[in-house]
Amino acid sequence: MVCDPLSRYWKVVEGKAEARYLIAKRTQIEVDLHSDTGTLWKVHDRQRNGDSQQGSVSLLELKVELARRMLEDCVLCERTCHVNRASGMIGHCGVLDASISSEFLHTGEEPELVPSHTIFFSGCTFDCVYCQNHDISTNPESGLQISPERLSNIIVRRARANEEECHGTFEPYISRNVNWVGGDPTSNLLFILKTLSQCEINLPQIWNSNMYLTDMTLRLLDGVIDLYLTDFKYGNDECAKRLSKIDRYVEIIRRNHLIAKRQAEVIVRHLVLPSHLECCTRPVLTWIADNLEGAKVNVMGQYRPAHNAGSHNDISRPLSASEYASALRIAEDLGLDLVG
Ligand code: SF4
Repeated sequence: MVCDPLSRYWKVVEGKAEARYLIAKRTQIEVDLHSDTGTLWKVHDRQRNGDSQQGSVSLLELKVELARRMLEDCVLCERTCHVNRASGMIGHCGVLDASISSEFLHTGEEPELVPSHTIFFSGCTFDCVYCQNHDISTNPESGLQISPERLSNIIVRRARANEEECHGTFEPYISRNVNWVGGDPTSNLLFILKTLSQCEINLPQIWNSNMYLTDMTLRLLDGVIDLYLTDFKYGNDECAKRLSKIDRYVEIIRRNHLIAKRQAEVIVRHLVLPSHLECCTRPVLTWIADNLEGAKVNVMGQYRPAHNAGSHNDISRPLSASEYASALRIAEDLGLDLVG
C-alpha cells in the first residue's frame, strides 16, 4: 500500500490530528526562562529528544524565549550576520521588526494547499536577480507592522466560514492552513512564534521558505511546523552565487531538506530556469529522488524574467515549453511524486 506523503497534514485539515504548535503549547516543561542560553537550549533539545518533564512553562514559550535571544546576535539564517537586531541593528536581510506586505486566501498555491492563508513578510535573506516578488523582498520596511495578537485574530477570522458574507449563494470560503512566506519568513521567526502563542485554532502551519536557515532556527521550528514548502533552486554553488549571491548553497540546502524531512512533511518546489536544465534541474531532482523519499515535488514552469534578470543572458527570457516538458520528463523518469 502506498502511504500518502501528506497524510498527517490531511488529518490536521480534517480535524483528526492536532497542529504541532498546539501540542507545543500544551507541553509543559520544568525550566526557568531566566536561565543562561546554554541551559535553555539543553532543556529544549532534551524535550525534543523525548524526555518527558512536568513544569509550568510551555515548550512554545521556551521557543519564543530562545528566538528572542537569537535576535540579539542574529544567526537566524546562514548569512550569520551576528547583529543585535533587538537593539535596532540590521543585517543583510534589512529586517528589523516584522512587516507584513499582504495576507490573503491564496488560491494559486498547490491544489493540496488551497485556499491557503498566505502571510507575506517584507524582506528576504536571498538576493535573487530574477526575484518574482522583488517589490516586497527588496523593501524590508514596506508593508504593515501589526501586533502578534492582531495577526492571530486575522488567522482565526480567515479560518472560520462566514455564512452571512456568503449570503447562502456559494460554499463558505475558509483557509485550510497558515502559509508563512515572503520574501522569506526566516528573519521573522520571533514574530511568528509569538503570533502562534496567541492562537488556538487547529490549522496546519506551513513554512514556505528558501531554506537557508541555520540549524538553530530549524530546531525552534521542530514541533511547530506541520509542512515545509521549500524552494530548491540550484544544483551547484556557482549558479547560486551568481544568481542569488549565496554561499555554500548546495551543502546548506541539502542539509536543511534532510532535517525538514525528519521533522515534518515536505513539498519541494523547483522553479525551472531557462538554460539551467543540466546544471540545476537535473541534479536537484536527482538528489531529491535519492534522498527525500516520501516528499512531494512541484516542478514549476512559470519563470519569467523579472527584476534584474535582463542583465543575465541565460535567464533573460521566459522558459520555453520544450524546456518545461524536458524538466517534467526528468522528474517522471526519476519516479518523483509530483503535486496535483
Ligand atoms: S535573518 Fe537577516 S540579520 Fe539575521 S542572519 Fe539572516 S540576513 Fe542576517
